[in-house]
Amino acid sequence: MAPPTQTRSTCPYCGVGCGVLIEHDGAQITGVRGDPDHPANFGRLCTKGQTLHLTATPQVRAHSRLRVPVLQDRGGGPPKPVGWAAALDRVCGELLRIHGQHGPEAIGFYVSGQLLTEDYCAFNKLARGVLKTPHIDSNSRLCMSSAVVGYKQSLGADAPPCSYEDVEQAACLLIAGANPAWAHPVLFRRIEAARARQPGHRLIVVDPRRTETAELADLHLALQPGTDVALFHGLLHACIWQGWVDAGFVSHHTEGWAPLKDLVRDWTPARAAQTCGVPEAHIWQAAEWFAQSPRSLSLYCQGLNQSASGTANNTALINLHLATGQIGKPGAGPFSLTGQPNAMGGREAGGMATLLPGHRDPANPAHRVDVAKLWGLSGLERLPGPGHDAVSLFEAAARGEIKALWIVCTNPAQSLPDQALVRQALTRCELVIVQEAFGDTATAPFADVLLPASTWGEKEGTVTNSERRISRVRAAVPPPGEARADWAIAREVGLRLDAVLNPHRPSLFARTDSPEALWNEHRESTRGRDLDITGLSYALLDERGPKTWPFVQGPQARLYTDRWFPTPSGRARFQCVPFRPLAERADAQFPLQLTTTRLRDHWHGLSRSGRVPRLFGLEGAPFVRLHPQDAQRRRLAEGQLVQLRTRHGETVLPLRCDDRLGLSQADVAMHWGSEVLSGLGVNGLTQRRRCPDSGQPALKQAAL
Ligand code: SF4
Repeated sequence: MAPPTQTRSTCPYCGVGCGVLIEHDGAQITGVRGDPDHPANFGRLCTKGQTLHLTATPQVRAHSRLRVPVLQDRGGGPPKPVGWAAALDRVCGELLRIHGQHGPEAIGFYVSGQLLTEDYCAFNKLARGVLKTPHIDSNSRLCMSSAVVGYKQSLGADAPPCSYEDVEQAACLLIAGANPAWAHPVLFRRIEAARARQPGHRLIVVDPRRTETAELADLHLALQPGTDVALFHGLLHACIWQGWVDAGFVSHHTEGWAPLKDLVRDWTPARAAQTCGVPEAHIWQAAEWFAQSPRSLSLYCQGLNQSASGTANNTALINLHLATGQIGKPGAGPFSLTGQPNAMGGREAGGMATLLPGHRDPANPAHRVDVAKLWGLSGLERLPGPGHDAVSLFEAAARGEIKALWIVCTNPAQSLPDQALVRQALTRCELVIVQEAFGDTATAPFADVLLPASTWGEKEGTVTNSERRISRVRAAVPPPGEARADWAIAREVGLRLDAVLNPHRPSLFARTDSPEALWNEHRESTRGRDLDITGLSYALLDERGPKTWPFVQGPQARLYTDRWFPTPSGRARFQCVPFRPLAERADAQFPLQLTTTRLRDHWHGLSRSGRVPRLFGLEGAPFVRLHPQDAQRRRLAEGQLVQLRTRHGETVLPLRCDDRLGLSQADVAMHWGSEVLSGLGVNGLTQRRRCPDSGQPALKQAAL
């Protein structure tokens, strides 16, 4: 038998961005292997990556995929499969009606960190350039926006300064609010290997729970939820007290040190220990390892980001790096891990309410003019300013201000917090378009129009992983039925709408008629910017493999090695952030702190990984965990069904007793929604309070 054809592509799950070889016969995907030449994984894959081909079996493609456009009748009539022409007539007709009656700001787009950069480019042009609505945001808002704002506030640009090589070179690794053993498994293998190679390697894990990552740590700081800023201030105080500050780095390359020093003067390790619920000696120990190690790196993710203090959590940690000079050298720096495969690419392409292409700012009129010129808008046309972030978008829809929502490759009726509000918003909209690969998501029933999209293994483009590495995504087989690429659907609608709304000029999509053309336009948007990739091309990526940005003459694995930061003064900025208690604190009525988590073998809302029975081998169903003493105090037994109630909603789950949780804490994996659970699923329990700087909701935390 002839060996299968192999197509080189990228895993569509997490931000590690592993390279894969898709095995296929041209019509069907038959297997998947790790790409031995991809620098993110060197051939390794985790269980999710290894089973990707099982998400594309003939059965899945025949029965779970959305194969043709469908019009749905909210009055209860049967769904009506239609051709693309009828579906796009409906989409364009309704968008033009709403645009004419209520103005561009009545239209919103909610897109996804699972989209390719080229898809982001197309939707951004459609929203901002054609329709002139400012309201396009991404589910990356739920994932990385606190890291984005933290980098910008502290270092001057949204640019993770490190690469995976640094993980291997660090002598001290501080992992805060992340469980890479489960959430970024292939990267975790590199951490384990680095520890095995380096005697004396220090691993500090900051996490309320004793996770699989914490079990490997030399020091586990099991802090109380939401006390990260207090801990980082306490660590900084210890560094100052012991003379472990890099005075030369602070005086030559930073600003804002004096007020921060004043602020942390009161944060003695004793006070921080009391606030965080950890031994004081552990704070002194962690400070010594972090400051005194020749190379200290921090890795962090949703535990810091998904908080009403998300940006402060990030900047307080970056303060530590700046004070000790642990940045801009091999094995050192603050390194945010991205959750989704292309959260980074979406940021680069400006597909968010607070960003424009090339890391520009929609609040800056000069940046809006730059982008307008790049897209070929006529001189009289202006791009809109900043729009609603993800949660505000749905709040505006619930108030009746947003009349049309176009939801692309994401499932807000499961993944956004405060599901009661989300459902109110979707019901109140006059037009809901859901563009999806899978037709059975929780959001699909709310759609007036369902548009079938192609997905992994069927589409072309690029993604950027956590270390700023751009990889190609390639199609191995055609999509099922009449499904189309996301960018192509946006382009078709853009051409039609431009012909009506902007007949005085050629359509913005006239020249961008392929993923490569869209990417070339994106590449041009980065010229002269911190993420300049004008030296890259599809041909170069195809020939030489994935590359990190910036890339003008060549790649750059590490940023700020020259100790110049992209701020007006060229110096990094200490951020004087006060500690704020949790947004929603436990009290007599709701005495437990609930944290949402993820499981090793599942991915987000299960719309892809939920098709693979093998992935349910480790954990097959949702549960709530409590410390055994908390269970005993409530006379609850292992396996018993318990009712969970927060201020936002309720559901019922079986109990699992686990002493790896702290007292008065509970956790639930986020993967299950209302199709499986009573009430409105796990996110029926969560709150929509947000970080005031980043707009990222505090999905990690509610009082129970
Ligand atoms: Fe895919 Fe992430 Fe697993 Fe790599 S670590 S195979 S990118 S899910």
